[in-house]
Amino acid sequence: MRRRLLLMVFGVMALSFYGAQGENPFFQEFDTPYGVPPFDKIKLEHYAPAFDEAIKRHDVEIVAIAESPDAPTFENTVEAVERSGEMLTRVSNVFFAQNSAFTSDEMQRIAKEVAPKLSKHGDDILMNGKLFLRVKAVHQNKDGLGLTPERRKLLDEAYKSFVRNGANLDKEKQAELRGINEQLSVMTLKFGENILKENNRFELVIENKEDLAGLPENAVTAAAEAAKERGQEGKWVFTLHKPSMIPFLQYSGRRELREKIFKAYINRGDNNDELDNKKTLSEIAMLRVERAHLLGYKTHADYVLEENMAKTPDKVYEFLERVWKPALERAKGEVAEMQRMIEAEGHDFKLAAWDWWYYAEKVKKAKYDLNEEMLRPYFELENVRQGAFDVASKLYGITFEEVSGVPKYHEDVRVFEVKEADGEHVGLLYVDYFPRESKRGGAWMGAYKDQMKKDGKRVAPVIVNCGNFSKPTGDVPALLSWDEVTTLFHEFGHGLHGLLSNCTYSSLSGTSVATDFVELPSQIMENWASEPEVLKTYAKHYRTGEPMPDALVEKIRKARHFNQGFATTEYLAACFLDMDWHTLAEPRALDPIEFENASLGKIGLIPEIVVRYRSPYFNHIFGNGYSAGYYSYIWAEVLDADAFEAFKEKGLYDRETAMRFREYILAAGGTDDPMTLYKKFRGSEPKIDGLLERRGLK
Ligand SMILES: [Zn+2]
Repeated sequence: MRRRLLLMVFGVMALSFYGAQGENPFFQEFDTPYGVPPFDKIKLEHYAPAFDEAIKRHDVEIVAIAESPDAPTFENTVEAVERSGEMLTRVSNVFFAQNSAFTSDEMQRIAKEVAPKLSKHGDDILMNGKLFLRVKAVHQNKDGLGLTPERRKLLDEAYKSFVRNGANLDKEKQAELRGINEQLSVMTLKFGENILKENNRFELVIENKEDLAGLPENAVTAAAEAAKERGQEGKWVFTLHKPSMIPFLQYSGRRELREKIFKAYINRGDNNDELDNKKTLSEIAMLRVERAHLLGYKTHADYVLEENMAKTPDKVYEFLERVWKPALERAKGEVAEMQRMIEAEGHDFKLAAWDWWYYAEKVKKAKYDLNEEMLRPYFELENVRQGAFDVASKLYGITFEEVSGVPKYHEDVRVFEVKEADGEHVGLLYVDYFPRESKRGGAWMGAYKDQMKKDGKRVAPVIVNCGNFSKPTGDVPALLSWDEVTTLFHEFGHGLHGLLSNCTYSSLSGTSVATDFVELPSQIMENWASEPEVLKTYAKHYRTGEPMPDALVEKIRKARHFNQGFATTEYLAACFLDMDWHTLAEPRALDPIEFENASLGKIGLIPEIVVRYRSPYFNHIFGNGYSAGYYSYIWAEVLDADAFEAFKEKGLYDRETAMRFREYILAAGGTDDPMTLYKKFRGSEPKIDGLLERRGLK
C-alpha cells in the first residue's frame, strides 16, 4: 500500500520568502542534512500553529494568483498554483506520516482539529470562481500553447481537479459539498483511530505452560517478552498484531484459544462500544453517495473509477468475477483437504475459520514437507532488506548506504542514502519495520518529501517504508515469515517508485498515479523475492550463514500454489465488499452487518473463510484512499505478472529491460496515461493469463 496526501489538490514547494518565526521548525525550510524533517526539534505543540500559518500563507498566494491583473497563462496560473503552499506541504507531509507511524492521543486530537480546516482550505481553492475561470481559460487554449506533454498533463489534471471538486456547481450546492467534505475528513480519521485502539486493546493472556502447546519457540519468547512489557512477567501475552497472532493461529493446538484470538480480530470495530465503527462507516458510505450525486455521478465508484485504469464499476466487477469462480472452487478443494486431515486426526468437528491457518500448515507439511517455521531462520530481516536493496542495485545500478547523523523519530528507524552508480544523490529511504502501539497496522510507503524539479534542478525525495514485522526476541534477530518477506519487497517497490521519480511537478511525481497502476512497481518486486536465484542470495541461515539449501528452495517452488484458493478468495471477497459499498445509488440508512452479509452471500463466500477485511475495520476503504479501489492489487497483478515476463524472457537482471522499466514506469510517475506508459515499456497491453497461471487458477 502507499499513502499519499489527498488533501491538497495539486501544489507544493516554492521558494519561501518568509522569515523564521520563533522556534517552530515548520516556519522555514528545514535546515538539516538532505532537508529531512528535524524530528529532534519538532514538538507536538508546533503542529497546530504551523498548520494555521501555512494555510494563511497559502491563501495569500492563491488570492494573488486568482486576482492577478495579467491575462491567465500556464505559468502564472496552473504552474503558480502547483508551486504554491510550500509550508503547508512541509507540515502536512510530516504530520500525516507521523500520525500513521508514531501517533499519540495528543496527535490524534490535533489531527481531528486540523482535518476540517484542511478540508475547508482545499475547498476554498477548488471552489474559487475567479481562479477556476483562469484555469479554464488556459485549458480552453491548451492546443495552442505548445506545452510539453508533462505540462499538458498538469494542465489537464488541474482542470479536472476543479471540475471534480465542485467548481462548476452553484453556490448552494458548493456549500453542501463543503459540508460533506468536512464531515468525511473527520469521520475517516475517527474510523482509523478506532482500529488502532482496537489493535492495542485485546490481549490473550496465557498463564499455564500447557496452553502454549504446539507453538514455536520464538513465538513463545516473543509472548513472554510482551507479557513482561505489560507488567505480567511470568505469563505469555498474544496480541492482534500480526507477528503475534498469525503464528498463534498457525501452531496453537488449543482450538478454543485460536477461536478467541481470531474472533477478537474479526470483531474489531464491531463490539457495540465506544470504538464501534458501524455507524461511522455507514455514514461515510452515505456521504459519499451524496457527494457523487452532487457532482453528477450515479455512485461513488463511478466518481472514483473514471480516474483509474478500470474506468467503470462494470469493468471492475467483470474482472473480479473472472478470477472469483476458479478461486472459490480452489478454496472449496482446500477445505476438503483440511477436513480430511481433521478426520484423520480422529476429530469430529467441522473446519471453522479459526482452524484455517492451523490445518493449512499441517496439510502443507504433509504434502510438501514444508512449513513456515522451516523457512523463518533463513529470513533474517537484515538479510531480506539487503536482498531487496541488492536486487535494485543489480537492476538500476543504484547503491544504498546507511547514514547516521540525520534526525530520526524513533530508535527502530534506520536511514539509507540512495545514490546512482556514479555517486549522484538520488534520495533517502527511511525504514521503520517493527510494530508498536503508536503505529497503525499493516505496511505502507510514504514520503516526507516528494521528488520534483525546482529551477530545473532535481529535488531529491525522502521516502519511508513502514511495516509491522516480527521483532528480535531474546538473542535471536528479527526472523520474518514468508508473508513478511514479500511485504518488505512490496513496500520497497513503492519506495523505488518514489525514489527514482524524475518529474518536474510533485503532483505528478512518484506514486501520484492511478490507484490501480500504483501497485505495479510494488508487486513486481515480489517476483524477485521468490525467484530461486535471488532467494539464494539473501535467504541465509541466521546462525550458520548457510544459504537456503536447494532442496528447500525447490519445496517453496513446488508449494507455490498452496493455499492460493484461500488467499485469492478472502482478498476478492473484500474487493466485492468494497465495490458493493461504493456502488450504492441511493443514500439510505443501512445496517452495515446485514449489508456485508448480503454482499458476501451474493458471491457465495464459504463460512470457513472470513473476508480479509470486514467493514468495521476495512481501513483501506473507510480510512484511506482505496475506496472503490481495493481491487487495484489484483488488477495490477495482471500488469506485474506480464511485466515480470519481460524479465523472465530477457534475464532477471537484464539491464536494458530494467532501464525501460525505470524510464517509463518508475521515473515517469503520473506524467502520462498509465496504459500508454505501460505499452512504452512492454510494447503491448498485458494479458490476464499470467495472473491466473501464477495463482494456479488456470
Ligand atoms: Zn502496495
